[in-house]
Amino acid sequence: MSHSLIVFEPSGLVIYMQNQKISPFNEVILSIVNESATEVSPGFFTSASPVSQKRFYCLSSKGLYAAIYVDIITTLDSDKIKHVLQDVIQAVVKFREEDVTKMNTAIEFLFTEFFKSKPAAKATERELTPTTSTVETPTTGKKKGAKKMRKWVNGELVDADVNESALDYSGASAENSTRAQEDVKVDSAAFTRQNNLVLINELYDGESDSDSETSAANAKGFFSKISAYFGSAADIQEVCKKFTDQLISKNIAPPTAKLIIDRIRTKINLKTVLITDFKQALTEELIKILTPNVSTDLLYDIKKVSKSRPYVISIVGVNGVGKSTNLAKLAYWLLQNNMNVLICACDTFRSGAVEQLKVHVNNLQRLNNGSGTESKIELFEKGYGGGDHVVNTAKLAIAYAATLKFDIVLIDTAGRTHSNAKLMAPLKKFGDAANPDKIIMVGEALVGTDSVEQAINFNNAFGNKRGLSFFIISKVDTVGDLVGAMINMVMATKVPILFVGTGQTYTDIKKLSVKRVVDMLTS
Ligand code: GDP
Repeated sequence: MSHSLIVFEPSGLVIYMQNQKISPFNEVILSIVNESATEVSPGFFTSASPVSQKRFYCLSSKGLYAAIYVDIITTLDSDKIKHVLQDVIQAVVKFREEDVTKMNTAIEFLFTEFFKSKPAAKATERELTPTTSTVETPTTGKKKGAKKMRKWVNGELVDADVNESALDYSGASAENSTRAQEDVKVDSAAFTRQNNLVLINELYDGESDSDSETSAANAKGFFSKISAYFGSAADIQEVCKKFTDQLISKNIAPPTAKLIIDRIRTKINLKTVLITDFKQALTEELIKILTPNVSTDLLYDIKKVSKSRPYVISIVGVNGVGKSTNLAKLAYWLLQNNMNVLICACDTFRSGAVEQLKVHVNNLQRLNNGSGTESKIELFEKGYGGGDHVVNTAKLAIAYAATLKFDIVLIDTAGRTHSNAKLMAPLKKFGDAANPDKIIMVGEALVGTDSVEQAINFNNAFGNKRGLSFFIISKVDTVGDLVGAMINMVMATKVPILFVGTGQTYTDIKKLSVKRVVDMLTS
């Protein structure tokens, strides 16, 4: 993670600088001057720059500014950042005149302590530890360039241990792919059988009573704290602020949180309000936002269409979010439903992308052979190449699938930076040529405010006539109850969530439980 810190006076005089890089800070200064930065709380600003791929936080206090930047995909607890910036300003005020070395040491300590990894939170550790019924870590070994797995620890994103990346075959090669296959297991209890269908369970189905009690206790915690603070009825302004902060603390982007709370305020339209009434209205609003307004019954859709031709789904998203892993999870589930699946390798840019899919397909073939289903899975690939190669590969795959009676074609696409117009432009051409029945964007639960822009840019990338069909929100297992990215993405686009990814095995895929997610956001 790249990050930097600067302390300066309103005159522009720099008092302290870590990492000796001032140029990205020009953007944050400009965003404050132009008032384009979001004011999270009085004197505390945040903004993101698609140009430098940085997210800024800046605190103005005691006649000084302290600003920090991190990589744009990083999500940090803004309260914690505010505190560390407060401490930094305190150190400057205290030591600036008397001892500059002491000042520098104090700031450096605060800065490094803030970014230092801390031990994993209990829930996160539990969820990431493979159990006997899940995938064991393959012995592939990490290659240079393999993607790093990150997880949420005490309000920070940290790199996870390599051995937690069970399904990361981004460094796969032909020689190690055979070894990877030997280790793959799945959780046979993860899906439910009903009327000849294999259905994906809901998020947190089968959660133990003690977990439910914990979440009920947490709910009571926040709720009683704020009830006690305000008494029974309270000034609507104060209540709105408390609930806005609550939503932001769950990873909902500040402008999105404000929009939601403003809607409720307008609906209530009173000067004072009972906390219970406000919370009820907020719950209803969040449920409304997350409830899909189109059918999410993918099995029904596929069965209907595949009588006459293969059903086509393409998977899009930024690099490393879990596109190929979740595509493989979908494939596993469809195979369980006796469907013939063709996986098409249309990430023809990133070296290793085709091999990565090959490993998944080999694993899935092996799992499928022993499962008693009559379905089949194959990989369609035409190697690497630019220009029209992607579109041609997709078209050939669809024609091949039609000839050989595949029910479904799952097309993997190259990961791309959503803010880079040059990389996003080919999506329109691809969408027009492959004309998929569904376009699914995989988005990470780990991403904070930037998830809004990611969702909007991908939704707009296919031209006026079509947009994204669904989201799959990956890595929900790594964020605890900070599930605000779901609201950010759905609210920005009105695109519903189809599934959520809850881990690194082929059965770590769940249907969204709107109620549970809303409980987490409001507790
Ligand atoms: P892509 O570049 O978007 O295709 O990303 P990959 O599918 O290669 O996934 C990147 C990393 O994220 C790999 O280590 C995956 O195992 C991991 N990953 C994907 N989905 C999940 C998930 O739901 N939970 C967790 N914990 N890890 C995931």
